[in-house]
Amino acid sequence: MSDIIQLLPDHVANQIAAGEVVQRPASVVKELLENAIDAGAKNIKLLLKDAGKSLIQVIDDGKGMSTTDARMCFERHATSKITKAEDLFNLCTKGFRGEALASIAAIAHVELKTKTANEELGNFIKIEGSKISAQDFIATSKGTSIAIKNLFYNIPARRNFLKSNTVETRHIIDEFQRVALAHPDISFLMHHNNNEVYHLKASNLRKRIVSVFGAKMNEKLVPINEKTGIVSIEGFVAKPEYSKRKRGEQFFFVNDRFIKSSYLNHAVVNAFDGLLEQGAHPSYFLYLTVPANTIDINIHPTKTEIKFDNEKDLYAMLRATVKHSLGQYNVAPILDFNRDATLDTPYHLNTTKHQSSTTPKISVDPDFNPFKEQEDKVPHVAYHKEKQTDNWQSLYTSTLSITDKEEQTELFNDKATTSNKTFQIQRKYLFSSIKSGVVLINQSLAHQRILYEEFLESITVKEANSQQLLFPVKISFTSAEIEMIYTIKTELENAGFSFDEFTKDSVTIKGIPVSVTESKITIILEELLSDIDLEVPDASFSHFDIMAKSFAKTLSIKTGTQLSEKEQEGLVDDLFSCKEPSISPFGKPTFKTLTLNQIDQLFNS
Ligand code: ADP
Ligand code: MG
Repeated sequence: MSDIIQLLPDHVANQIAAGEVVQRPASVVKELLENAIDAGAKNIKLLLKDAGKSLIQVIDDGKGMSTTDARMCFERHATSKITKAEDLFNLCTKGFRGEALASIAAIAHVELKTKTANEELGNFIKIEGSKISAQDFIATSKGTSIAIKNLFYNIPARRNFLKSNTVETRHIIDEFQRVALAHPDISFLMHHNNNEVYHLKASNLRKRIVSVFGAKMNEKLVPINEKTGIVSIEGFVAKPEYSKRKRGEQFFFVNDRFIKSSYLNHAVVNAFDGLLEQGAHPSYFLYLTVPANTIDINIHPTKTEIKFDNEKDLYAMLRATVKHSLGQYNVAPILDFNRDATLDTPYHLNTTKHQSSTTPKISVDPDFNPFKEQEDKVPHVAYHKEKQTDNWQSLYTSTLSITDKEEQTELFNDKATTSNKTFQIQRKYLFSSIKSGVVLINQSLAHQRILYEEFLESITVKEANSQQLLFPVKISFTSAEIEMIYTIKTELENAGFSFDEFTKDSVTIKGIPVSVTESKITIILEELLSDIDLEVPDASFSHFDIMAKSFAKTLSIKTGTQLSEKEQEGLVDDLFSCKEPSISPFGKPTFKTLTLNQIDQLFNS
């Protein structure tokens, strides 16, 4: 048999490599931003069209490339960042593989303009599918501009595999945020379809975090600062009461590189021990600096995981440092935490034994009872009115599996005909005797159901009760959040909100639904945005249901809330005048009954 093995042509090899390096537009964004940083840029612009599907352009004022380098940079394994194998163990650049540009050029149309400081003219190169189609000298300023057009134009399968623009933009924003947070001293601009999304001026870390996540982040941050022989830890954690239900704002940077580490995450979560509500995730922005030769970033192709030589020590120090800062913040809440010398951790962690700081105590959830508010403001009769709108009815019945309609109606009548005392058990359940036996109600889930139906009704039938605020409240959000609020403005107005002014990063609210108190405005909007974010598989979803669920969840009375007799009765009455009393908006049972028969059985076995 004749020889059959051949070397793959370069453009094929590049396409294969591209499969690993470039999964989606966000991967291109990451590679280009990192190249600009490695080139020493101080100002970086990112311009996008159609979630990067038709254009991703990065313009930097870094050192640029010579004519030869401008051609070379698209070759595979072409890099200026390492020259020998040992360099791999002392990396201080983002890139080192020399395959990003070669991969990108294999699957898109690329236009490069670049000029070094000491050359008169710059270079222009156009590449399509790994082939140079034009090259010229051009007048351009120092630095590099690289435009990637029509990503995956020659791999339709990959192109079709891309998600909606909303989802791809989200991925890009994630990458952009990581890079921007790692480099507060660099100014970043991001435009999408000619709209400005971010304009981040060069600043310090705290200001950078605040300009990425919005002005209200400022008050949430607790500074972290610790230096030992093996690591320096800097950054911020958010106060426990601002923890999130999703793991959104959790950032580790090691030597200015964003990394994921469930191990280190565990250390931080552990430091919050006892301060977080169940299911809540703390937000953090933590910057670790370790000697370059004690980590290995070479273990993952997209380089978000790294291996530490001394993982265990890092864990212990991180945990102790965060715990200590939380404790300190609690002992002395100070208005401005901004790198104040008096706030620097006063002890040193060189001895790992000296780590038990006082356990911080924080009252996370003041005894707030929204039910009480609601009871005062909304007379119970409001729930008993006939809720008959086909639209509304179909909207939520379709999302629920109704178990036993007969039984519910019966139970309702049953309850109505006997006026039995209700007992609260462990501030969690209500217990009442009914004609056929007993009923146990989960107070929080029941209240979710009541609020859910109330909100769904007001959002869809458009007669929400709104209360005007004496003083309109201005709340700051990121521009992405503002865009989302604007998209759902009508639904929010139906729910009882009324808006005054929208700016790029704030919204002024002048009216709110009656069941919402002023102190809760920010939290319910934040929760709503995060819920929408979590549930946004594509653009074709109804905001109504998400909104009603989100409000119900945020405003419902919680386990642990003491209810007066009147409140207990109100809750029971309201629950059983719901359309679907037996199930919470999230599909959990709101109550269980035990018939006399079942009780008898308990004693017969
Ligand atoms: P790597 O970053 O791993 O070296 P890339 O394919 O991303 O590989 O880039 C190849 C080379 O092109 C880099 O090593 C660098 O010398 C050069 N280069 C890429 N982007 C820029 C830029 N924005 N400014 C200056 N040089 C660049
Ligand atoms: Mg690179």
